[in-house]
Amino acid sequence: MEKRKVYMDYAATTPMKKEVLDAMMPYYTELFGNASSIHCFGREVKSALETAREEVAKLINANTSEIYFTAGGTEADNWAIKGYAFANKERGNHIITTKIEHHAVLHTCEYLEKYHGFEVTYLDVDKDGIVDLKQLRESIKDTTILISVMFANNEIGTIQPIKEIAQIAKEKGIAFHTDAVQAVGNVKVDVKELDIDLMAMSSHKIYGPKGVGALYVKKGIKLHPLVHGGAQEKKRRAGTENIAGIVGFGKAAQIARINLDNHIEKLTSLREKLINGVLDKIPYTRLNGHRTNRLPGNANFSFEFIEGEALLLSLDMLGIAGSSGSACTSGSLDPSHVLMAIGLSHEIAHGSLRLSLGDMNTEEDVDYVLDNLPKIVERLRMMSPLYEKVTKGGN
Ligand SMILES: *Cc1c(COP(=O)(O)O)cnc(C)c1O
Repeated sequence: MEKRKVYMDYAATTPMKKEVLDAMMPYYTELFGNASSIHCFGREVKSALETAREEVAKLINANTSEIYFTAGGTEADNWAIKGYAFANKERGNHIITTKIEHHAVLHTCEYLEKYHGFEVTYLDVDKDGIVDLKQLRESIKDTTILISVMFANNEIGTIQPIKEIAQIAKEKGIAFHTDAVQAVGNVKVDVKELDIDLMAMSSHKIYGPKGVGALYVKKGIKLHPLVHGGAQEKKRRAGTENIAGIVGFGKAAQIARINLDNHIEKLTSLREKLINGVLDKIPYTRLNGHRTNRLPGNANFSFEFIEGEALLLSLDMLGIAGSSGSACTSGSLDPSHVLMAIGLSHEIAHGSLRLSLGDMNTEEDVDYVLDNLPKIVERLRMMSPLYEKVTKGGN
C-alpha cells in the first residue's frame, strides 16, 4: 500500500493550483515580451500585467493603481517599512510594531534601529497573542510615524483587531502598515473598510507561485523605492516584471476571491474537528492562539513532556507534514519568539506543533492525524522521566 501523505503545512507554503499554472505557461514561451516594450510583444504582456493587478486589487478592495508587485511578501514588508521610514524621517524616527511579527518585519525594524537612528517599540501581546490597544495608545509619541501590526500570525493564527489599530493610527496622523500575508485569501480583507495605508501580500501563501507578492500603497502615501533602476511599477519598484509569476498571482487572487466563503467554511470546520479531537484525546495539551479569533486553517498545540522536533520526525515517518513553529526558525534551538511572547516557558514552547490546513485537506486527513498523533505523543512521553513521575500519581 502506498504511504498516505498528509500535508498540513499550508502556512509555510501552498501548492499551486492547476488553473494557476495553466494561466502562467504561455508567458514562459510565446508571450515572452518585455512589458516596457512598445511593440505588440510588449503590449500583450503589459495587458496581462494590468489584468493581474486588477485581480489582486479586487481581492482586497483596493484601487488597481494602489497595487505594486514585488518579489514576495518579504520584499513587500521591507519596502513598506524602510520606504515609509526613509520618506518620512523628517517627521519623526519612532516606529511601533509587535513582538510577534514575522522576521520580515522584525529584522527590518532592527536594521532601522541599528543603522539608521530609528527607535522602535515592540508591543507585548496577551496569552492569546492579541495586541493590547491601551499599550499601543500609550506607546505613541510625537515622533511616531509608523505602526506595523500583522493582520494574522503565521504561527499561532491569531487575528488582530486591525480596524481598531488603524483607527488609532489615523486619529494620531500615523501611517499604518499590516503584514497580511497569512490573512489575504483566508479571511475577508477590505483595505477601504479597515482604513489600511500599507499592506504586504504574498502569492505562494494563496496557491500561487513563489517569489511574487505585492504591496498595497494607499493613494497619497509617501514612500521611497526599495529597489532602484528602471521605470517599472510607476517608478516605485524597478526591475523587469516577473510576468508569468504575476499572472499566476492574479489567477490565484481571482480564485481566492471567488471561493473565499467556501474556503473559510471548509477550513474552519476541519480545524474545529482537529482542535477538538486533539484536545480531547491527548492530555497535558494546550492550544496556542485565540480559541476562535484565528485563521480558519491554523491549529497550534503545545504538548507537555515532548520535544517538538522528535514529534515532527515521527509524524513525517507517517507521511504527516507539520511544523514546529515557523519554517524559518527550524534549525535554530531558540524557541519561537511568538510562543515566548504569549508567555510559554521554554520547555512548553519546545513541545509545540503547528498544523496548518488548506484546500487539499479532507476529513480523512484529519481522522488520520487524530488516529496517529495521540499514539506518537504517548510513545514519546514514555521516554520522558518527568512524564513518568506525573503519571505514576506522585507530585
Ligand atoms: C510567508 C510570510 C512572509 C514572507 O513572504 P514570502 O513571500 O515568503 O517572502 C511574511 N509574513 C508572513 C506573516 C508570512 O507568513
